[in-house]
Amino acid sequence: MIIGAPPEVEGRDRGGAGTPLLEVRGLAKHFGGRGGLFGQAKTGVVRAVDGVDFSVAKGETLGIVGESGCGKSTTARLVMQIIKPDLGEILFDGEAVGTRALGLRDFRRQVQMVFQDSYASLNPRLTVEDTVAFGPRVHGASPAAALAKAHDLLHRVGLEPGRFAGRYPHEISGGQRQRVNIARALSLDPRLVILDEAVSALDKSVEAQVLNLLLDLKRDFGLTYMFITHDLNVVRFMSDRIMVMYLGKVAEVGASEAIFETPGHPYTAALLNSMPSMDPDNRTEEAPLAGDPPNPINPPSGCRFHPRCKSAATLCSHAEPALNIMVGDHLAACHLVDPSSGHPRLVAA
Ligand code: SF4
Repeated sequence: MIIGAPPEVEGRDRGGAGTPLLEVRGLAKHFGGRGGLFGQAKTGVVRAVDGVDFSVAKGETLGIVGESGCGKSTTARLVMQIIKPDLGEILFDGEAVGTRALGLRDFRRQVQMVFQDSYASLNPRLTVEDTVAFGPRVHGASPAAALAKAHDLLHRVGLEPGRFAGRYPHEISGGQRQRVNIARALSLDPRLVILDEAVSALDKSVEAQVLNLLLDLKRDFGLTYMFITHDLNVVRFMSDRIMVMYLGKVAEVGASEAIFETPGHPYTAALLNSMPSMDPDNRTEEAPLAGDPPNPINPPSGCRFHPRCKSAATLCSHAEPALNIMVGDHLAACHLVDPSSGHPRLVAA
């Protein structure tokens, strides 16, 4: 079951209409570390993603938020198989990825990614039309068909082919380059698009235009989005559901409005309190997030947030809370909202 998920869009349901488009189970990736010989534990291991489960329903936008280093971008790269996971299973429309039923090439065609750096994502020697036509050409389209598709997509993302098709990346603005990246992502008719800080480098007026474009394209192409950002206003605008990550784990997940109205996890509440307020009477004097920034090398025992949590109790430093506590209609991994935890300051869930 996907908590707070919207109804599925029609069509393209290889695994049935009720099957989530993407299911991720027990995903983990640890980087580096020294030692580990003769059965000893490695030291200095970065636990970038450490046992993450989530689903994305067909036709929804799942927003993923958290501070820098929380594992949200690594999660995206693991889903895309840009980085090989150490552990975990990824199902796409009911099929395990990397199997005979759904090979990596087929999966990668159906899942596309747009990155933050619009310039680095583009080949400086390819014109805009060649950039967008490249994928269809590689997948067997004729030069004429690939070019026609590129022009259609450029038109759909607001770049008139007559003006932009022959330009190179350095001849267009950052917002226009990101539109090219979006057109290129759509050139293979994907079903899931992962947007990793895709608007973060744009100035605010361009950002708003690109966000509205993404919403239009989602509707017109029947897309599903994973939308990764550190910007809470943007994630609220874009997402049906939100997943909050902290130090490689999921802290809370649920419908966007529920997360914003009634956050169940103290970390989510602190993140929301850290949003700048335009109201001078509503400014907080106290820093909402106390303590050192998170370090994914050898993270704290028990609840990873406990050194910074104002509600931490003794049990929080040795018992890790599971992501199975319902707060209203969403899930939070926190002893404070678990009636069976014995936390001395229990909150009624
Ligand atoms: Fe805070 Fe304890 Fe909840 Fe962790 S489990 S967020 S330390 S109250």
